[in-house]
Amino acid sequence: MAFEGLATRLQSVFSKLRGKGKLTEDDVNEALREVRLALLEADVNFKVVKDFVAKVREKAIGQEVLQSFTPAMVVVDIVNKELTELMGGTQSKLARSNRPPTVIMMAGLQGAGKTTTSGKLAKMLQQQNHRPLLAAADIYRPAAIKQLQVLGEQLKVPVFTLGDQISPVEIAKSAWQHAKENGNDYLIIDTAGRLHIDEALMEELRNIAAEVKPDEILFVVDSMTGQEAVNVAESFHKQLELTGVVLTKMDSDTRGGAALSVKAVTGCPIKFVATGEKLDALEPFYPDRMASRILGMGDMLTLIEKAQSAIDADKAKEMERKMRSAEFTFDDFLEQMEQVKKLGPLDQILDMLPGANKMKGIKDVKVDDKQMGRVAAIVKSMTKEERANPDMLSLNRRKRLAAGSGNSLNDVNRFIKQFEEMRKMMKQLSGMMGPKGQKMMKN
Ligand code: GDP
Repeated sequence: MAFEGLATRLQSVFSKLRGKGKLTEDDVNEALREVRLALLEADVNFKVVKDFVAKVREKAIGQEVLQSFTPAMVVVDIVNKELTELMGGTQSKLARSNRPPTVIMMAGLQGAGKTTTSGKLAKMLQQQNHRPLLAAADIYRPAAIKQLQVLGEQLKVPVFTLGDQISPVEIAKSAWQHAKENGNDYLIIDTAGRLHIDEALMEELRNIAAEVKPDEILFVVDSMTGQEAVNVAESFHKQLELTGVVLTKMDSDTRGGAALSVKAVTGCPIKFVATGEKLDALEPFYPDRMASRILGMGDMLTLIEKAQSAIDADKAKEMERKMRSAEFTFDDFLEQMEQVKKLGPLDQILDMLPGANKMKGIKDVKVDDKQMGRVAAIVKSMTKEERANPDMLSLNRRKRLAAGSGNSLNDVNRFIKQFEEMRKMMKQLSGMMGPKGQKMMKN
């Protein structure tokens, strides 16, 4: 999970502050010292950390803040706003040319995730009713063209190629023509990467850019490389005038330093983050929502958007009613698991829930296909009454379920415990959606 260490550290700093009631200047300084260390440990650029802490200190040590009724909350709010600012303030949207095709050129080092991200972007645009064309301009890496073609086939998005014997500049030019003639309103050009930055690569990219005049030059970079990602982005930006950054592999990056430094160091906004190998694992980047996630305030907006695109609305409504009325049964649980699976890996969903990382036992809830099968077998061994009344499941009944479903008693117990956790989580969730919860989220 991205920002795991940082989120935990910051949340503990602020819960200490909250415990204090009135704050002194020393309290704030002590907290900021810890914030500074936490950011450095998350691999945030040294200078960025220094500026950040200075800005927060300046705002937090005013009389008004320290004298306020809830000083700790005001400090958290200041940090939240500054984190948001640090990552660019507001969302930086993908360009859209009023003379289509809008040309998006992808650039980056080899292995950063350019080709995969090109596919993901095409999928996202397609879902928004655009007609993207992918162009294969990486003629050096063996199988790069094939990889893009396979993605295109999967997505049913056309892929333009001229093989690997024609220059990338020519390919880009012809692809533009092809898009124009075929009514493709977006052209995504997948370019070659190298293991390291070299002049030949830069020149090729500059030549492509000069020829097709992209509306976007997106720099794709592996977030796991931390500060190195920021340095490489900076070098590319100097030579190419990037318009945005895509941070990939955020699912594997637990520190998050690149996400926090890239805008401040390069001046170039993060436009998307990629959170997995699957083609739907690309999210627009919202600085405010990311700041909230880091501070443990959750990101309900992204969660709701994901849910809206993945989940059957009628079923969801019925589920919501059940959750609110505490009618939620084991059958519903199975159904819900199927739905939740569509949202992506559970740990990523949990990151978006306010305070979820503090809920005990929640980390053990795993949703994978094997587990689903096992859980389904347990539920199917239950009688109708048992399914509707989880409280009926005495030890004897659990033993029977274990034998009936081919699981151990331990497995059955663990599942029932998870079910209870899930119920609790749902209660909390439905509470948050109500008026009381809205207030809670604001705090
Ligand atoms: P390119 O050389 O820049 O075109 O990189 P590729 O698109 O071929 O990606 C390199 C590897 O990174 C592939 O194995 C991808 O599946 C993987 N990858 C790309 N994006 C992500 C991501 O967001 N998360 C994870 N876990 N893997 C990714």
